[in-house]
Amino acid sequence: KKYSESYDSYIKRIEEGYLAVPSTQSALAASRDYATHPHLAGAVEDFQDAKEILALFQSEFGIPAPATEPIYPAGSPESREATLSTSSKLSKPAAWVDIYYPVMNTGNADGMVVELLGESDQPIWKADLLEDGDPRDDTAAEYRNSVPPFHGFSAAGEAIGQLVYANYGTYDDYNKLVDAGVNLTGKVILARYGANFRGLKVQGAAERGAVGVLIYSDPRDDGSVTVENGYEPYPAGPARNPTSIQRGSVMYLSIYAGDPTTPGYPAYENATRVEPTNVPNIPSLPLSWANAKLLFEEELGGVPEGTKLNGRVGSRKVRMVNDVDAKVTPIWNTMAAIPGHIKDEVVLLGCHRDAWVMGAADPTSGTVSLHEVVRGLGALYKRGWKPLRTIVIASWDAEEYGLVGSTEWGEDFADWIQEHVVSYVNLTTDVSVSGSRWHTSASPSLVHLIQRSAQDVPHPTDAQKTLWDAHFDVGPYEGPVDAEFARMWDTKTSNEPRIGPLGSGSDYTVFLQRLGVASSDQGFGNTPTDAPYHYHSIYDSQMWQEVYADPGFYKHVAVAQNLGLLTLRLTDSIILPLNTTQYALELDSYVDTVIESTYREEILPDLFPLRRAIAKLQDASFKLDEEKASAEEAFHEALKKVRRVRGPPVVRRVIRWVKEHLGIGAQEVQDLRFDALKWMSSVTESSCSEMDICKSRGKGPLCDFIRAAKRVRVANQKLTAFERGFLSEDGIKDREWYRHLGVAPGKHLGYAPTTLPGLTEAIVYDEDHELAEYEATRLTELIENLAEFLEV
Ligand code: GLU
Ligand code: CA
Ligand code: ZN
Ligand code: ZN
Repeated sequence: KKYSESYDSYIKRIEEGYLAVPSTQSALAASRDYATHPHLAGAVEDFQDAKEILALFQSEFGIPAPATEPIYPAGSPESREATLSTSSKLSKPAAWVDIYYPVMNTGNADGMVVELLGESDQPIWKADLLEDGDPRDDTAAEYRNSVPPFHGFSAAGEAIGQLVYANYGTYDDYNKLVDAGVNLTGKVILARYGANFRGLKVQGAAERGAVGVLIYSDPRDDGSVTVENGYEPYPAGPARNPTSIQRGSVMYLSIYAGDPTTPGYPAYENATRVEPTNVPNIPSLPLSWANAKLLFEEELGGVPEGTKLNGRVGSRKVRMVNDVDAKVTPIWNTMAAIPGHIKDEVVLLGCHRDAWVMGAADPTSGTVSLHEVVRGLGALYKRGWKPLRTIVIASWDAEEYGLVGSTEWGEDFADWIQEHVVSYVNLTTDVSVSGSRWHTSASPSLVHLIQRSAQDVPHPTDAQKTLWDAHFDVGPYEGPVDAEFARMWDTKTSNEPRIGPLGSGSDYTVFLQRLGVASSDQGFGNTPTDAPYHYHSIYDSQMWQEVYADPGFYKHVAVAQNLGLLTLRLTDSIILPLNTTQYALELDSYVDTVIESTYREEILPDLFPLRRAIAKLQDASFKLDEEKASAEEAFHEALKKVRRVRGPPVVRRVIRWVKEHLGIGAQEVQDLRFDALKWMSSVTESSCSEMDICKSRGKGPLCDFIRAAKRVRVANQKLTAFERGFLSEDGIKDREWYRHLGVAPGKHLGYAPTTLPGLTEAIVYDEDHELAEYEATRLTELIENLAEFLEV
């Protein structure tokens, strides 16, 4: 009876089965398990957690624990085989750990110094550089000193100089200071977190001659919920604890990601290492507001307000010492695979596991989603479901240092990924839940899929709504907000829910921007009316999560439900749910953005050929849409008929052929016998006459089926390759590691994306008409080639 079920009702049954699994109890328990100890990348606890996730994969997917633990140095035959087999011969789920060997640093609390020097260079004040912790939290004593506040990949050393306040330390901020005649040479920059990626604050300072950088958390960026607005600081209330310190990587992320010593290739233990070009050469340290406030009052004439202190230079000197050691450090990506009927099309899911300290939101809320997704898929698997495509799941390590675990794996298996991976689902922007508003970013080809799945998932707390509606949710606290913050927030959000392009700052980077895999990302983030998120501090704790971010853990469950649904639709749809037409239409708006990026028209290249190429791509995509629909219909039609002809001689011949040519086992052959759908991947490479089963000279139902399956296969290959079409071997100027000419992390933004980055940056930063012409030309060629590729 099962085999006569229509494919739609089969999918519906699978999805309903999945949605019933993620639960608040399980999510809460997993979070309490993972978020109550520090797990810095490379630390013993991180390794323990890697093994715990391995055990989760094993138990949920029914993998017997092998005699020796499947933990393999990257590059070893076992490690290579583990990944490569997932798209060819894997017949049962598998799980393993890959070890990579990047160079990373750690901080020494005792050696860190930030002090103000008096007349004879004697220290007159010394910052404590320590967070208070939460006295009610059992783990407080343990975690307070476990990971000192420092910057990942920061340069070790001492810097002495006058303080200069540089606002957010953005490209514009620094330029304004320089234009106003403020000399940054030899200075120590004081900048606030926010607006751009922290590494770019250091990069901008270093490029302008500064000798050190201090980055602090400013209450103006906490929206309504501040002590100034009458809220108690955490743990007594929802406002920011003034001693909280944001750790974080200061890698020059927009140059390249991953291990700094192995750009573009995997960090095996014995890898040849180069002198990094994506890490700072001047020291930096993170500061609490409590410490920064004192520096402002003592040195810069009071606390900052509006723009009035921007560029203010202190009179005395500040001395800072960044005491960090860098060394080759093992990191552990925990991986799992569930083989599909179609093995060589792979859906990749991932989320990082390492945290700066406890990381209840970042990344544990993401890890909890992973945990629930795995439980859901595991439950389906145990009931006999097998995905149509293969699923590979990763718990990445060392994301915090600079997307290291995902990048090294991406570099290790670059060819394999480009050949097989149809989409990458980042299981949340590291953070499933840190506030009330659900947001998502994705390749334009995925936006409809995400919107539909979010509309099929209930809202976490309002039964009348769906997860999609949570795009508009706000937090419970009110109060006036800083004017500059309000402006920034306004430009980030709009009343129309919009799934914008991906920038960087999470693990999709290597897949999308180097390897051309359509990617997506989502999670609940902070709004100005939420309790401020104590990002990368010891206060990103289980206690804070339970009290302020997601009481009851309903949001964790909603995200896990949506991620699973998304995954199922990517794995089990006959035609991949990738919308190339949306992408092709979106390209016109990218060109509009290029035009709006400058008022100097003389710099703009002739954009007409590019527009024409985009129009061609749109036409090609419309045709592909027709082909998608008609191939799918033909497939289902043929499937119906072929199910009726189970004449024994034909079936026997098919089984024999499949066994011989694909070398698969008896169970699989049984599957084939009963469900013609599963022939898809096996038969599409050959025709029925080649299979020597055709007695009807191309006219029988089997022949129709094979033809239809081939059409589906070809359409899916085009859909998968669409995103790859934006890659250029030459990459983006000055940062060739990034190869996607459609989208990149903004050169001076880091987290935020720049669309058509080569072209846009030639206009905006280089202000070079000739370069812009060159960029427009190579983009035009790329898009023309892509259009042609879709046509054939
Ligand atoms: N997500 C981390 C952060 O924002 C790492 C990003 C990166 O280094 O690329 O700090
Ligand atoms: Ca590398
Ligand atoms: Zn983080
Ligand atoms: Zn993270």
